Amino acid sequence: MTRITVAKGDGIGPEIMDATLEIILAAGAKLEIDEIEVGEKVYLAGNTSGIAAESWDTIRRNKIFLKAPITTPQGGGYKSLNVTTRKFLGLYANVRPCMSLHPFVSTKHPVMDIVIVRENEEDLYAGIEHQQTDEVVQCLKLISRPGCEKIVRYAFEYAKQQNRKKVTCFTKDNIMKQTDGLFHQVFDEIAKEYPEIENEHWIIDIGAAKMADTPEAFDVIVMPNLYGDVLSDVAAQITGSVGLAGSANIGEECSMFEAIHGSAPRRAGQNVANPSGLLQGAIMMLNHIGQTEVAEKVQNAWLKTLEDGIHTYDIFKEGTSKQKVGTKEFAQAVIANLGMKPSILKSVSYANNSALNLPKYKRRAAAKKELVGVDVFVHWAGLDPNELAEKVKSIGTGGIELTMITNRGIKVWPDGFKETFCTDHWRCRFKPKDGASITKQSIVELLKNAIDQNIDSIKTENLYAFDGKAAYSLGQGQ
Ligand code: NAD
Repeated sequence: MTRITVAKGDGIGPEIMDATLEIILAAGAKLEIDEIEVGEKVYLAGNTSGIAAESWDTIRRNKIFLKAPITTPQGGGYKSLNVTTRKFLGLYANVRPCMSLHPFVSTKHPVMDIVIVRENEEDLYAGIEHQQTDEVVQCLKLISRPGCEKIVRYAFEYAKQQNRKKVTCFTKDNIMKQTDGLFHQVFDEIAKEYPEIENEHWIIDIGAAKMADTPEAFDVIVMPNLYGDVLSDVAAQITGSVGLAGSANIGEECSMFEAIHGSAPRRAGQNVANPSGLLQGAIMMLNHIGQTEVAEKVQNAWLKTLEDGIHTYDIFKEGTSKQKVGTKEFAQAVIANLGMKPSILKSVSYANNSALNLPKYKRRAAAKKELVGVDVFVHWAGLDPNELAEKVKSIGTGGIELTMITNRGIKVWPDGFKETFCTDHWRCRFKPKDGASITKQSIVELLKNAIDQNIDSIKTENLYAFDGKAAYSLGQGQ
């Protein structure tokens, strides 16, 4: 018996959750259920996180959370409960299998069977954003070595367990050499530990195009958070419907299972929604808690039901489908098929599908870190970078001098192009001249001089070398 937390959510949530629980309990799932309230009602009652403190206690005690979609009210500073839950509970791996069910569910990609493993906690989703000038806002993209190692290892261990042949990595490291560069580098390092599994890297843009066009070329795909968010929806949609895919959010201690789609408020209360996405999430949950036989039984009955042409409206197609059913009737049809297997679609065997047991991240020895310069960002509403350079040069101190100015990353001084469009957000790079050195104290002096000269410095970024290697980006065009 496993004690789990269930939230029925908003919109179509309660209907698809009832259907899902009915199916898995009928199949023999041994579950004790604690229900909590999350989502719209909680938000509108004034709790901007969408969940009450005592509900966190339940989730943390039970460790396994099955969650229906929720509605995040627009505006009003409401925080996405999904993002908060993933980060609070350290659910670093988001696993989304996307498989086509040809010829029973209409799709342009009859042999597609891919699993997207998405990093779930960092990247641009760290949610660290600031407005810095009248014209410019920024969002910090944070990529960490532990974040990369954990997700990449998860992808390879998952591939090994599931007998999959290849793991592909998608990044944009031709542009983001530090952040996506680290993700790619860690991928290459860890891939070497799995010689039996093929590995490859694609630049995300052409990789995404290839995935949408020829998904059969891929098997497991691992990627940073934002790309994974976008592409897992694309992958689910091209199997035939977003209503068919489930998702597992896995952490070292806790996990959350859900459908990938939202609360579809316009379909709520009409007994029309497809419960398959949440059911897929629940099947991943059953595997995770070791109830693999029940998971297998439910999956085979679900495949058989789809094969029988018993379809909800979202996948119903005249000619292929046999019967259009509502949420409840679909659940009853799956229950009636428990113990049966599909005859055309491939039946599943989940004997080895329990939770993966991954090693804990081990911090490496610290590198030799040396301060080699500083970028001082300045809010300035002028137009001519040469004029700014003259102003800013005067804050240099102790042999530390202005070496470059960029605007939105492109070098505008020295030797900029007059065609380059400039905003009011300037990066002024200071470095020590030959023989001089830079310390934190010199940065304080630079900033003090900026105040004295009436220069509006808005932030600084220290430039470091790690083990003698420069660890910051050059200006574009530098
Ligand atoms: P959505 O996924 O709810 O709906 C998109 C489209 O797919 C709609 O046409 C809908 O009718 C259809 N659809 C979705 N699930 C279906 C199902 N099970 N059966 C049949 N048809 C289905 O996306 P949206 O409309 O952009 O978002 C609605 C709300 O859901 C928003 O408040 C959003 O914040 C929230 N949302 C929640 C989650 C989550 O809780 N995990 C995820 C995404 C969106």
